Amino acid sequence: MAFKGGCKEVGRSGLLVNGEILLDYGIKVGDIPEYPLNDMEPKTVLVSHGHLDHCGAVPNLMYQNPEVYMTPPTAEFTNLLGRDTLKLAKTTLSGVSPFDPEDLHQLGHRTRTIDYGNTFKINEYSVCFYNTGHIPGASGIHLESEHGESLFYTGDFSLKETRLVHGAAEFPEADTLVLESTYFEEDHIPRKETEEKFIESVQDTLEKGGTALIPAFAIGRTQEVLMLLDAHGITAYVDGMGLDVYKILKKYPEYLRNPELLDRAFKRVISVKVQQRDLVLKKPSVIVTTAGMLDGGPALYYLSRLYKDPKSKILLTDYQVEGTNGRLALEHRIIETKGDVLTLKPKIEQYDFSAHSGDSELKKLVKDFCKKDTIRIFVMHVDKTEVFSQWISEEIGVDSYAPSNGESFTF
Ligand SMILES: [Zn+2]
Repeated sequence: MAFKGGCKEVGRSGLLVNGEILLDYGIKVGDIPEYPLNDMEPKTVLVSHGHLDHCGAVPNLMYQNPEVYMTPPTAEFTNLLGRDTLKLAKTTLSGVSPFDPEDLHQLGHRTRTIDYGNTFKINEYSVCFYNTGHIPGASGIHLESEHGESLFYTGDFSLKETRLVHGAAEFPEADTLVLESTYFEEDHIPRKETEEKFIESVQDTLEKGGTALIPAFAIGRTQEVLMLLDAHGITAYVDGMGLDVYKILKKYPEYLRNPELLDRAFKRVISVKVQQRDLVLKKPSVIVTTAGMLDGGPALYYLSRLYKDPKSKILLTDYQVEGTNGRLALEHRIIETKGDVLTLKPKIEQYDFSAHSGDSELKKLVKDFCKKDTIRIFVMHVDKTEVFSQWISEEIGVDSYAPSNGESFTF
């Protein structure tokens, strides 16, 4: 098992099993995007879910002709994000895309879509996807060899339901567990409290005559936030890929918790075309837009118009990775765009709408796996993996590792 990315960091996930099966191949976003190590020739790629840091660079592997497996929503999101990456490459300073349109086309041909719970064969392995609750279509991946050795890779997961999706399914037993631990040592505020504060703040901004700018990931977060606003009778503008994602989700109601409420929310929203953006800003309004970490997309356009307005507010709804504009805004009240540094006058608030399990759930999950005979655990997808790994070894007494990118393990 070889760790190619996503170790001691959030972003560019990649794990190679048995030299030929690759789990995820993502992009770490930032000024200069980073990719997993590519010293391999995977014959098969299994994609856990449609977020850039897990699926974003899969098209880049097409020259190796792998077979690709994922759930139907993940396949559509991977394609959507791929098209967006190509588009962004044309407009950003780096101007470099990791793949070209033909690669994306190839990926479509090479992808087999598989629903949760359907076991399929890859060489000597039986493989099955399990719902991980994180976003629609998100999967934990279970592999079992002919000799009975088994591995469960959680991808990103949340045991708790949100307005958009059910919580994770019950996970299968496995000798080896590879665990995301983004929120190790951090428990979430109950969702209800977060929602109340968020709605109050949006209403307060409107009453004071400002614009509530809500940057949100297009996949998952945008839909959840719009469902929340709709539940409180607030009409929002939506700009960016969030609407495309809704069109995809409409095809897969079985991957949603409440498709009717999602429909209702999108009946209320007003979608914004590029030429209408300035018009939207003429009156106090609520705008839900990409990019969730302010590293591109219409959010930057709106900020370039609002950054001097102390009545307006930026309500961040996603995890802000180190090195992103979102993190800069939170910590230093600035963002960098097209070589300019903008000092932000609007109030900046961060809301924990996390789609990841918090500390107590992570620890409970580890204990539950170990009760069911898990004998080794690998911790990834956060910078504090060594501390978590030590906690597992000391508290539970099973072998635990905090691998680095490039490290391999044999059993
Ligand atoms: Zn994710």
